[in-house]
Amino acid sequence: MAEKMASGGCIICGSDLIYLNESESLQCSICKETFLSNARCVQGHFICDHCHELDGFDLIQQICLNSSSTNPVELANLIMSFPEIKMHGPEHHFLVPAVLITTYYNKTEKPGLISEKLNKARERAKNIHGGFCGFYGTCGAGVGTGIFMSLILNSTPLSKEEWKLSNLMTSKSLLEIANYGGPRCCKRDTFLSLETSVDFVEEHLNIRLDKSTVKCKFFERNKECKNQECKYYPG
Ligand SMILES: [Zn+2]
Ligand SMILES: [Zn+2]
Repeated sequence: MAEKMASGGCIICGSDLIYLNESESLQCSICKETFLSNARCVQGHFICDHCHELDGFDLIQQICLNSSSTNPVELANLIMSFPEIKMHGPEHHFLVPAVLITTYYNKTEKPGLISEKLNKARERAKNIHGGFCGFYGTCGAGVGTGIFMSLILNSTPLSKEEWKLSNLMTSKSLLEIANYGGPRCCKRDTFLSLETSVDFVEEHLNIRLDKSTVKCKFFERNKECKNQECKYYPG
């Protein structure tokens, strides 16, 4: 089968893309549906037309709904590789609770709850507009961890222990974020929030989500990157 190399790498794995002369039956890496296509990466990854046209919020939801990951940082890194997720932007306010909800319910073997919780997280995250960090003193990625905690504990304004843990979760994330100083970086603040959540969930709920060492692959797109001052900077 003749193949032609395409410019740009695979979003999923970074390998080269190839165009095939004859279509193959391929499973979309996002929605897991099968389609005939003549484009894929050398490792076999393929993204269908529908998934290519999703906006940032829809993309986050679609990838999470089809993920079996138990590693929030890894899942966030995958989602942030897509161009629909800007270097900075309020989609991170949904991204943080979305990957936490997904990995938490995959880990606790209740994946049936993911869809409903993602819908609620999305509704709540919509209220956290861009620039919250600098204008309201409350980074939206940090608030996203509180949304996550509130949703998995079914907290309301009248709850006791659940209310406490939800607010404590946000405050721990914000403390880590604040101590770094500005300017804001939605990637750094997302990584800090996720790492803080993994430790918090283990300490308070005795559930161990998977961890991985973060090497930021986004710094070249961030003109305000703190470079060596950031612990995720790979240089
Ligand atoms: Zn690939
Ligand atoms: Zn698809």
